[in-house]
Amino acid sequence: MYRVVIVGRPNVGKSSLFNRLVGRKSAVVADTPGVTRDLKEEVVETDTGRFLLVDTGGLWSGDRWEKKIQEKVDRALEEADLVLFAVDGRADLTPADHEVAEYLRRKGKPVLLVATKVDHPTHEHYLGPLYALGFGDPIPTSSEHARGLEDLIEAIWQRLPVRQEESEPEVAAIRLAIVGRPNAGKSSLLNAILGEERVIVSEEPGTTRDTIDVPVDIGGQRFILLDTAGIRKRPETFVEELAIRRSLRAIGEADVVLLVVDPFQVGDRELKLANEALEKGKPVVLVITKWDLVPKEEAQRMRRLLKEKLAHLDHLPRVYTSALTRQNLERIFQEAVRLHELNHTRIPTSELNRWVGVWTSRVQMPNFKGKPLKILYATQPEVAPPTFVFFVNHPEFVTRAFENYLKNRIGEDLGLKEVPFRLVFRGRR
Ligand code: GDP
Repeated sequence: MYRVVIVGRPNVGKSSLFNRLVGRKSAVVADTPGVTRDLKEEVVETDTGRFLLVDTGGLWSGDRWEKKIQEKVDRALEEADLVLFAVDGRADLTPADHEVAEYLRRKGKPVLLVATKVDHPTHEHYLGPLYALGFGDPIPTSSEHARGLEDLIEAIWQRLPVRQEESEPEVAAIRLAIVGRPNAGKSSLLNAILGEERVIVSEEPGTTRDTIDVPVDIGGQRFILLDTAGIRKRPETFVEELAIRRSLRAIGEADVVLLVVDPFQVGDRELKLANEALEKGKPVVLVITKWDLVPKEEAQRMRRLLKEKLAHLDHLPRVYTSALTRQNLERIFQEAVRLHELNHTRIPTSELNRWVGVWTSRVQMPNFKGKPLKILYATQPEVAPPTFVFFVNHPEFVTRAFENYLKNRIGEDLGLKEVPFRLVFRGRR
């Protein structure tokens, strides 16, 4: 059964939430020291299914987030499928809340941020600061008034991982879309990757297998090559229109996009495909293939030429390879892993805000009728792509130039320029 564990500093209302979710009133509601010294576990029945709810509330003693407690929560978390991070929706965040947040981040379990004690819809206006915890949208609940519980249960089911077959390995596979213009060399590359002997797609006329995702293991890392049927050509029936639609779908499902580039045919199509991917938040590796056709003495000149033609994509990593000689084939996957990890970078809120201080001190802030733009604080609630939310006094004061300045700083100072991170500006709440 799924295990959902409630974590949060003392007195945020964990026990009340627990009791509400298991659907009965209990006499013990506060995180009173000494009441219980252990975990409470109950099965929660919902329309979608059942899960085991675990309350760590009983572990707390004082009002500090102590090492001893952490260790006990550690054990509870080891088996958790999802963490409900409870914070008081009516009080300011405390250092203990931030400590719990940092701790949960280190644990890497999926977390749902739950704001408690939001007894009235109007209280939801106060939830803005909770974004600073870096766990995305808080879900407002009130145990007292039984508000938001259905939404919470729905969110729980959405976030619970889909149960995989037992044989599924621990390391998650990285999903790769191989895209590029017709004849760029995609299917040749695919064959080179998979090795000759491995026949994966039947090309007999009439076979209409729609999408074929092929798992491969390279250097101990699992990858899934998406929609390989769309990569393999089917001469009679293959229409470009369809090819484009398929590659767009593969991009949508991918973690990383491999854009296959024929060095002798570079143009708008490459830029278009790359932008398509980047706009969807997918990192792109430029895979320049057919490199065996470039004479050694021409390589330098060719690289420069490509650099010019792909100037807009200058920040993307590129691998020079060949399906024929198989040079640098492994590099493609090393770069894919590196970008995948980079796209999952999490900048701690404190570090981010330190940088914001530096960045804003180095420029004249945009202003409107003498009133300057102010960044109140920043947080990164999401990864893949890393998304930075800046809470500002007046979002409409943010100029294009200032936004570009921030983008450049994030790219350089946080080392994220190779991945398609996003910026969001929000008004004060
Ligand atoms: P796709 O449409 O992108 O799948 O492109 P193909 O893989 O069918 O390749 C198009 C043409 O380029 C074919 O004639 C291939 O033989 C040739 N080709 C592909 N990759 C290479 C390569 O690395 N070196 C050389 N010399 N030719 C290649």
